[in-house]
Amino acid sequence: MRGKLLVVGFGPGSFDHMTQAAKDAIQNSDVIIGYNTYVDLIRGLLNGQQIVRTGMTEEVSRAQEAVRQAEAGRTVAVISSGDAGVYGMAGLIYEVLMEKGWRRESGVEVEIIPGISAINSTASLLGAPIMHDACTISLSDHLTPWELIIKRVEAAAAADFVVALYNPRSGRRTRQIVETQNMLLRYRSADTPVGIVKSAYRDREDIVVTTLGRMLEHDIGMLTTVIIGNSSTVNYDGLMITPRGYQRKYTLGDDIQPLKPHQRLQVAAEPWSLEAQQGAESGPSVPVQPATSGPWTGGLGPLSGTGAYEGSPAGVSVAEREPAAGEASRGAGSAAAAVAEPVSPLALALEALWLVDSHKGTAEPSGVPSAGEAAAPWLQQASAFRRQEILELAVSPGLAEKKLTSAQLMLLADVVGEEGTIEYTPHHQMLVRIVTSEPSEAVSRLKAAGLLLAPIGDVAQIKACDFCNMDKADSVPYLEELQSRIGGMKVAKELRIGFNGCGMACYGAVKEDIGIVYRREKFDLFLGGKTVGRNAHAGIPVAEGVEPEKLLDTVESIVRKYADEAHPNERFHKYFNRVKELEGYRHREVPVFKIENAICGD
Ligand code: SAH
Repeated sequence: MRGKLLVVGFGPGSFDHMTQAAKDAIQNSDVIIGYNTYVDLIRGLLNGQQIVRTGMTEEVSRAQEAVRQAEAGRTVAVISSGDAGVYGMAGLIYEVLMEKGWRRESGVEVEIIPGISAINSTASLLGAPIMHDACTISLSDHLTPWELIIKRVEAAAAADFVVALYNPRSGRRTRQIVETQNMLLRYRSADTPVGIVKSAYRDREDIVVTTLGRMLEHDIGMLTTVIIGNSSTVNYDGLMITPRGYQRKYTLGDDIQPLKPHQRLQVAAEPWSLEAQQGAESGPSVPVQPATSGPWTGGLGPLSGTGAYEGSPAGVSVAEREPAAGEASRGAGSAAAAVAEPVSPLALALEALWLVDSHKGTAEPSGVPSAGEAAAPWLQQASAFRRQEILELAVSPGLAEKKLTSAQLMLLADVVGEEGTIEYTPHHQMLVRIVTSEPSEAVSRLKAAGLLLAPIGDVAQIKACDFCNMDKADSVPYLEELQSRIGGMKVAKELRIGFNGCGMACYGAVKEDIGIVYRREKFDLFLGGKTVGRNAHAGIPVAEGVEPEKLLDTVESIVRKYADEAHPNERFHKYFNRVKELEGYRHREVPVFKIENAICGD
C-alpha cells in the first residue's frame, strides 16, 4: 500500500483559523510529525495518532522521518504553522523526496494543505496594511546570506512594497532587524506606520502599531511578524491602513472627488498606467474612452499620495444609473455590462459601509464621514509623501458670458500645462483636469483671470443663455441670485437648471432637469425634463407667470429637497415622479413613445 504525505499548514495557531482540510488531514493521519510547540498547539485535535516531536532545528530529520514513515505505507501529517509553503516544511519535504529520486506516478502520494500565513493573520489584526503590492522577507540568515537579504530589503524599500518581515529577531540574531530598519529609513519616512504582532491568534497575542523610526522600542522576537507600511499607509485610530491606488482627485473647495466605478477604469483617470503612456506615445490610434481620451502624456511617473476616500455613497449606489450626456458610460445599469466591467474594491467597500450605516436605523448615509471631516487626519499625515494630485473643475467665461478672451485662453493653457486636459462638454463649460501639487494656486490663477469656476460631479449647475448678447438682461440679477443660493450645491445626481431670458428659450431651458424662462417680468417653470436617452423629453410646464421672488424661493426649496431626499444616483425626473409633488406642483405623466433606452455605445 502506498503511503501518503500530508504537509499541513495549520494557520496562526487557533483552531478557528485552521481550515477544515487541515483539521481533517490531522485527524485522518496515522502519524503526526512536528516541532514540539506546534504539536502542543494542535493537541486538541488528536485522537490516538502516533506523535513524532522534534526540536526546532531538526527540520531535516523531521522531513526524512516523514518520508520514511510514508514509504512504509502510513499516512503522515507534517505540520507547519501558517502556510507550509511559506518558510515552512513543504519545500524541505520535496527536497528530501527529490534526493531519493521520487516520482509523482510511482512514489508516495504528496498533498500540500494550505494555511493562513503570518502575513495574512497579522495583517488582519492590524487593520488593512497589505492591500497593495507586498512582499515577505525572512530576516533569518541561517540558510540565506545576509548580503542577499539586505539587498532584498533595499529593493522592496525602493519599490514601495509593503513588507512583512518574518523571523525578525531571535536570541542570537539581534542585529538584523536594526540593519533592516536603517535600510528602510533610507527610502521611507520615519513616520511610516509599522505593525508588530506577536503570537497572532495565540494565547499571548500582542499587537502594536508604531512607526518605522520607533519600532525598535518595542518587543520583537521569534514569534513576531513586523509589517512595514508603504508610502501611502496611514495610522488611522490605531489601525494600519494602506489605501488601494495612488490617486487623489480634487474638485473645488478641496473636496476629494471620488472616482465612480466606471470612471476608475478609464485611461484618462489613470495617467500613470502603461496603457495611458503607450497611448501618449502612439497617438490617437490607441483606443481610449471617447469622452476622456485627453492627451495625457507619458513620463508622469507614479503619482503618490493616498487613495481617494469617498464621503458620500452617491457614486456607488447599486441603483441603476443612466449615462449622462457626454459621459463615457459603459452602461453600469445593464447586467451584461456589469459582468464586463468589474466594480472597484473601493466602490464595494463604500457600498458596504453605507449598507452597514443604513442598518443603524438612519436612512441617510449620515454616519459615513464626509471626505473633509473624518478623512482629514490621515489625509494630512499622508500628504507628507504626496507629490501630485489631479484637480478637476469646470471652467467657463461666466453664467451669461459666452466669450472667452485670448488672455483667458492663454492663461488656461498655461495652468493646464502639458500634462493636464481640457474637455469641452455639452454644458457651456470646459472640464479641466490639472496635475498639480498646488491645487489652490491653480484655482487662484484661474479666478484672477475672471473665469467662472465650478465644482464638477453631482452638483447643481445653472445653465443660462446669453440674454441676446445682453440686450435682454433684465433677469440677470435673478440668475445671479439663484447661482449664489444653489450653484454648486451637492445633490444626488448631476442637476442642470436651465435659465433663459425670454420666451424664445433658445438655449433650451425647458429641456433641462429644471427649466426657468423669464417672460413679461415673470417666470415660467418646467420640472423634470429627461435630458438624455432616446426617450428624452422636455420638463413638465408646472407654472406660468410666477413672481421673481417666489420663483427664487420655490426653486431653491425644490433643489434643497432633492439634495436631502433623493436616493443615491436618482435623477431629478425620477425623483419628481416618485414624490409626485414638489412645492405644490404635481407631477404629470408625459406622453412619450414607448422606446427602450439603449446602453451607451449600443
Ligand atoms: N510558515 C509560517 C512561517 C514560518 S517562519 C507562516 O506561513 O506563517 C516563522 C515566523 O513566522 C516567525 O518568526 C514569525 O515571524 C512568523 N509567525 C508565524 N506564526 C505567527 C503568529 N502566530 N504570529 C506572529 N507571527 C507569526
